[in-house]
Amino acid sequence: MEKLTIKDVDLKGKKVIMRVDFNVPIKDGKITDETRIVAALDTIQYALDKGAKVILLSHLGRPKGEKDPQFSLKPVADRLGELLNNKVYFVDETRGPKVEEAVSELKEGEVLVLENTRFEKGETKNDPELAKYWASLADLHVNDAFGTAHRAHASNVGIADYIPSVAGFLMEKEIEFLQKAVENPEKPYVVILGGAKVSDKIGVINNLLNKADKILIGGAMMFTFLKALDKKVGSSLVEEDKLDVAKEILENAKAKGVEIVLPIDAVIAQKIEAGVEKKTVKIDDGIPEGWMGLDIGLETVSLFKEKISDSKTIVWNGPMGVFEIDDFAFGTEEVAKAIAEVTKKGCISIIGGGDSAAAAEKFGLASEFSHVSTGGGASLEFLEGIELPGISSISEKKNLNERIFILAGNWKMNKTNAEAAEFVSKLIGQIKTQDKFEVIVCPPFTALEKVRDITSTSSIKVGAQNVYYEDKGAYTGEISVNMLKDIGVEYVILGHSERRHIFQESDELINKKLKKVLASGLKPILCVGEQLEEREKGLTFNVVERQIKEALYGLTEEESKKIIIAYEPVWAIGTGKVATPNQAQEVHKFIRDLLKDIFNEEFAKKTTILYGGSIKPNNYLGLFGKPDIDGGLVGGASLTQEFVELANIMKSIIE
Ligand code: PEP
Repeated sequence: MEKLTIKDVDLKGKKVIMRVDFNVPIKDGKITDETRIVAALDTIQYALDKGAKVILLSHLGRPKGEKDPQFSLKPVADRLGELLNNKVYFVDETRGPKVEEAVSELKEGEVLVLENTRFEKGETKNDPELAKYWASLADLHVNDAFGTAHRAHASNVGIADYIPSVAGFLMEKEIEFLQKAVENPEKPYVVILGGAKVSDKIGVINNLLNKADKILIGGAMMFTFLKALDKKVGSSLVEEDKLDVAKEILENAKAKGVEIVLPIDAVIAQKIEAGVEKKTVKIDDGIPEGWMGLDIGLETVSLFKEKISDSKTIVWNGPMGVFEIDDFAFGTEEVAKAIAEVTKKGCISIIGGGDSAAAAEKFGLASEFSHVSTGGGASLEFLEGIELPGISSISEKKNLNERIFILAGNWKMNKTNAEAAEFVSKLIGQIKTQDKFEVIVCPPFTALEKVRDITSTSSIKVGAQNVYYEDKGAYTGEISVNMLKDIGVEYVILGHSERRHIFQESDELINKKLKKVLASGLKPILCVGEQLEEREKGLTFNVVERQIKEALYGLTEEESKKIIIAYEPVWAIGTGKVATPNQAQEVHKFIRDLLKDIFNEEFAKKTTILYGGSIKPNNYLGLFGKPDIDGGLVGGASLTQEFVELANIMKSIIE
């Protein structure tokens, strides 16, 4: 699924808290490499141009959860001001009155940098309280820190549980390139791996064995593979405990038809030092004791170049040798040049962050590749196929191929006929629906016909809040399905928590009503949800499972196809206590899995599951951005202009 980006949201006048990766090297108070600051400029500038008030969060280095002046972001804030040619404010705190004052004084088009997030102990622990505090400073979270996407920290992941999180341009680009390499690489797909340790790359190699055509291995990790093949590697760096792993990888590659290309010669020396005696030996002749391999040799360079020459996708992670020392940089530089060359011919080249990015920079080739990732660990985990928490937490765009998205307003016992008519007449002009996006209003019985008449020329649909299961007779105070159909009602809310708890409706009664409604052709919105005590006792899933199973009792898959489910935690209804997007998503996913077990995957995929409980325009994007939340059943906010805002939020992110 595609992620929501900064381009999908309205930024005018909004306070935007942006997680960037300003983890730059600083020596004697001077930034020695500002690549990461430059990489974040586009997103920051875009937000400023759109009239946002931008608050920046970043970590720098590894302070131990407390203030440490050597890791202050002050020099970064100063440099950022120069690069943006804009006033950039800096507060030497991560929370507290000074921060809050600076935020409240911030104007549209201005930037505020807060102090290093890792001065807070709770940052790396993803402390919910810290995340909630940072979220309280803003309306929206922009995540542009791909470098930390493999870490669940408060400033990138936790915060998204309280306010919507969208991707910045850098994050978007990283996902786009890496996803292509993971899901749909153009062939031949060549992967070049180097660096010191096999252990760092086992996961990624195993995953790539299912995708790549060739894997070229250089760097010190080649010696573990060569030793596993009984080659003499002298004093080269070898992970003795990974010899079996290396053997297994080679066997798996063979079985899967993936060509693993190992070096045929190496540059060796007795010390890792500039200017020492060095020579090139053939791997088959072995590396003498006391000597170690520090680069790939000339023949390997030619071999690798040949393997690279016809590729259409290349991923390169890890240098071929000790490139930081010029004597051992040749292999890395030549491989980098070969990748740059084939990129010119249309190959997509992705350079994993960390050392390979530094090497590309050193050789002045960084701009020659399709994409140089800003994340070393993050790009490796992405290529391993691991779901990165810093990406999962970003809200998603909705894909209309899957199911129908719905915004339903439950007016409850509110609005006279005249009030209903006036309100719905205003809605008509302002709410635009589209195929597979429906807006439903559910007035009290008395206003149903009036509202139906007014909406009949619009796309707004009408639902009732309840119905009885008998057709007619001595049921004082009740309404039948035929009465609803007769006036053109299409939907009915069933099992709302207020009916379950104030009017003691049982699962059995709801089951009877549901059967009747489905048989009549009306579309039911079946509400389920746990009470606070049940959640606190850890019974949420049990309650929801019971309510759904009992409601569906005796119904076939075919009969149940029109059901819309609304998960409404009772403690969130009308209380202002909204479930966090993750709390809601967890239960929605549970319901979808349950539907899969009860019926099948297709049924589960196609069923619309709404969230309900204190939805407001300021919390809705985060909820609706979750993959299993298909819209909202709204009480309080459906009675006011906020309902139009909710519809607009949905429209803005439905593709
Ligand atoms: C509801 O009544 O279904 C509901 C979710 O109410 P509110 O949005 O006011 O919490």
